Amino acid sequence: MTKDDPCAEAMNQVHAFLHGELSEEAADEIREHLIACEHCVDSYDVEACIDTLLKRCAQVEISAPVSLRVRITQMVVRGSGPANSF
Ligand SMILES: [Zn+2]
Repeated sequence: MTKDDPCAEAMNQVHAFLHGELSEEAADEIREHLIACEHCVDSYDVEACIDTLLKRCAQVEISAPVSLRVRITQMVVRGSGPANSF
């Protein structure tokens, strides 16, 4: 395993992530990366990813603050409305 390419790392684990097969710690890393990295988001099924992210956020509120959900939602709807809807 190499940390030289975090995108490759994320892509390798993203399916396990989507299936909920990763540990909380590993899943958190992938989630953080996907939120921060548009390249990865563009590289595969964004809707499936976001859907999973939101579901997991809803299930694990402790590790998914409102700001995170807002950022995910903004990522989904970017360019199609005002960012501040609160
Ligand atoms: Zn990436």
